[in-house]
Amino acid sequence: MLIILTGLPSVGKSTFSKKLAEILNKLGIDVIVLGSDMLRESFPAWRESYEEFIRKNTLYLIENALKEYWVIVDDTNYYNSMRRDLINIAKKNEKNYAIIYLRAPLNTLLQRNVKRGEKIPNEVIVEMYKKFDEPGRKYRWDEPFLTVDTTKEIDYYEIAMRLIEKSKKKDEKVRDRVENSISKDYSIINEIDKETRKIVGEYIKRIKPKNKEIDRIIKLRKRFIKNLKNEEDIDVSKAIIEFKRLLEEEG
Ligand code: ADP
Ligand code: MG
Repeated sequence: MLIILTGLPSVGKSTFSKKLAEILNKLGIDVIVLGSDMLRESFPAWRESYEEFIRKNTLYLIENALKEYWVIVDDTNYYNSMRRDLINIAKKNEKNYAIIYLRAPLNTLLQRNVKRGEKIPNEVIVEMYKKFDEPGRKYRWDEPFLTVDTTKEIDYYEIAMRLIEKSKKKDEKVRDRVENSISKDYSIINEIDKETRKIVGEYIKRIKPKNKEIDRIIKLRKRFIKNLKNEEDIDVSKAIIEFKRLLEEEG
């Protein structure tokens, strides 16, 4: 089972992860807490250029761990795209998942942040608070299984029991979800197929290539669609941009 925490800095995610993991462990579950801070803090300094490595390898670690253990993701998971990447890992491995949204008033976050040395400036947290993508507001798949107010007492035992219950109901639901996502991917590919045909048509009209060139362009498009079918979680607009770029470069 994949437990995806989400919440702003200082809300109490690391504290929550540790305590929940302890209780789950006592209940006989092999569980590991993973998060991008582990890798981030392994660099002697922070650079933006490290972030892509950190993101990719945190996901890689999570995926491998999930094959054997329950995983608690101790991260802000600020954007719904981050939560979506994690959910896709769960789906791909046919595991259940639960989003747990930790929340607290801004003042509490700022006070806790100052208390632990304000490694992140308070202004940054204020900005994040304003822009935070509340889980589940836009998409159903993003709805939290639980919302926890960290200014109140947290009943870890109750939470652990609810997670265990959910993990047992897993199979049917996950199969459903995987099937849904497969049929959704299919319609996405259809859309991209149509869209790229149109783009090729316009390109040929504009550039007026020779017949041999046209063949090559048609093959390029076919290969693009074929490769797309092997991809997880396809984004129509990204794929179109990618195709246009390919066409300009290789067409
Ligand atoms: P995060 O991982 O979300 O950044 P932490 O778990 O590191 O947050 O907690 C931030 C600070 O808030 C720490 O000093 C911690 O002791 C405190 N804290 C965490 N959870 C609670 C809670 N439920 N009640 C009061 N203080 C908390
Ligand atoms: Mg933390």
